[in-house]
Amino acid sequence: MTAPAATDEASDAQPAAPAPKPLAEVVLAIDIGGTKMGVGLVTMQGELIDRDKVDVDHHLGADALFATLNALIESQLARAREHHHMRVVAVGVGSAGPSTPNVETISPLNIHSWRNFPLRERLSLATRLPVFGDLDAKALALAEGWLGAAQGKQSFLAMVVSTGVGGGIVLNGQLLDGAGGNAGHVGHIIVEPNGRRCPCGSRGCLEAEASGAAIESITGRSPTEPTYEIMQRTGRLVGRACASVCNVLDLDLVVVGGSVALGFGATFFNSAQESLDEHAKLSFVRGARITPVRLGDRGPLIGAGAVAVRGIHRTRRARSSR
Ligand SMILES: [Zn+2]
Repeated sequence: MTAPAATDEASDAQPAAPAPKPLAEVVLAIDIGGTKMGVGLVTMQGELIDRDKVDVDHHLGADALFATLNALIESQLARAREHHHMRVVAVGVGSAGPSTPNVETISPLNIHSWRNFPLRERLSLATRLPVFGDLDAKALALAEGWLGAAQGKQSFLAMVVSTGVGGGIVLNGQLLDGAGGNAGHVGHIIVEPNGRRCPCGSRGCLEAEASGAAIESITGRSPTEPTYEIMQRTGRLVGRACASVCNVLDLDLVVVGGSVALGFGATFFNSAQESLDEHAKLSFVRGARITPVRLGDRGPLIGAGAVAVRGIHRTRRARSSR
């Protein structure tokens, strides 16, 4: 048998080799929370195909902390190339807030070394890719509306009850931004007048009473070892805040995720629903429901991926309308 023609470099009679199939596109998703940072790869259809995470080391300075994140980024970019054979086309970020639009700067309440930290620029320099960012709870709202418990809903609230408490509001099909991109900070709805001091400077905010950090300082125990009473109380306060938001915005669905809410499970959700029923009495919000997120612990990274996919579509639309 003769050698295969493809190795016959001298022959120019061979038909041109077919152009290599373009690599499928994927986005790099980054979730920045108060205790953990996650990095993963999300397809354009919203499938999370790879992930890794690191604890936030609160003793590190701003640059050293970014270096721990960057190590994960480099390893996921390498996995996209070498393991998945996919092309990373953009970076999407969901970050704990507050932040300025498109995560130009972030100042997460629970990450003290990052104050006005120029996240977008640092990620852009590190990856040489377009970077799109938003608040973590807003990213989760996009994910749950895209593929989760709020799929197909035009109006709903998504909440994260975790180390902190965040929220994202979708109204008439649009994720609300507000003047500076911070719309949806439901963690700072007052649920206990003259209650505990909040990291924001006020008192009695939901975040000061029902977040993982608050529960730890109230009980002296990790929120992973809750009493029945604390699970009930946390649910009740979350339900109270949800009632206010549903009343104001004419919503009938709240989707709740985050390690504290999901860890407290049915006890939390039953109390939250009871409290919502008790406080949502107007005809248009009667029957409003609180339900767990459907994407589970994949939600934050799929949300960060959704922020990137949204950014890519916006950029392409803007180019084609020029
Ligand atoms: Zn507050």
